Amino acid sequence: MDVIKFLEKNTRSITRPVKKMCKWAYYDMGLNVAHSRFVNSRINKIIKSKNVKYIKIRNKEDYYQFEKEQSELLAFSRKYALDLKNCLKYPLEYSGVCISCGRKVKFSSEMLYEYSQEPMLSETIVCPKCGLSNRVRQLFYILYRELPLNKKLSIFALERVTPFYKSLESNFGYRSKIIASEFLGGDLKSGEVVNGILHEDATSLSFENNSFDAVVSNHVYEHVADIDKTLSEAYRVLKVGGKVIAGIPIDIKKDKTFVRAKIEDGQIVYLAEKEIHGNPLSDSGCLCFYNYGWDLFEKFKKAGFKDVYLLNILSKELGNVCDYPVATFVAVK
Ligand SMILES: [Zn+2]
Repeated sequence: MDVIKFLEKNTRSITRPVKKMCKWAYYDMGLNVAHSRFVNSRINKIIKSKNVKYIKIRNKEDYYQFEKEQSELLAFSRKYALDLKNCLKYPLEYSGVCISCGRKVKFSSEMLYEYSQEPMLSETIVCPKCGLSNRVRQLFYILYRELPLNKKLSIFALERVTPFYKSLESNFGYRSKIIASEFLGGDLKSGEVVNGILHEDATSLSFENNSFDAVVSNHVYEHVADIDKTLSEAYRVLKVGGKVIAGIPIDIKKDKTFVRAKIEDGQIVYLAEKEIHGNPLSDSGCLCFYNYGWDLFEKFKKAGFKDVYLLNILSKELGNVCDYPVATFVAVK
């Protein structure tokens, strides 16, 4: 299914107005705000009580230190992955607290074979209420830790049709202005709206300089055709002190980024075997241009960011267990 067909089929559910201007809606808006405030105070309590180690990793040495400090949770994660692989009862359930819903839930895990013969813990351990996976809930946890809680924020998210966007809107929407977009095709210009969905090309955004407190994305930056342009654009649209908060896969065994494909004269040139990842907007998936190594830190610095660190959240109770790094990058302008 191509992107436009997907939007035609799903537009009503995606763009259904939340805030209708009638008296019941005002009542509803009030409830939404009250609900969000309630959820937020519950989440803040969870964050304060769970004592999750928040280790900022700025280089390889920091990563080895992280592995030492988190050895118990990493061992637990390895055992969980093994249990999942050998699991006869399907799926393997796991009680904990969802950082997005703020509730006690039973996370469910499945063995995913799509890209790997081993369990991909980052992509599973899903919350049954909000649908967020382990990896996406880590990003949520980091958003709560990195963004000021008592300030009205302006957030740009490179995601609009996913459960992540819904959670972002319901948890941050009452106190923040959220602009969210999808990449809808190379023929469109950034800023165009198709069936109610904003199109933005991460390598050339339609926004003015110094517009946002945060640019948030989730496994998007490995799919952009030019990472240097993408980071420069994120830097340009951020306010001073603003942050890129982005889940980006990194191979911690590699120093240098491996470029799989590039665009030359408007054509895709493949430098290695095609690597396709899942795309919520298209059955044909999304082409991976980069397998990042540690030099991604330098790319952020080159774009102007003054501090860059990656986080890998581990917590049994929050359903964040994984035996390989689930990197979320934070870059500060
Ligand atoms: Zn949830």
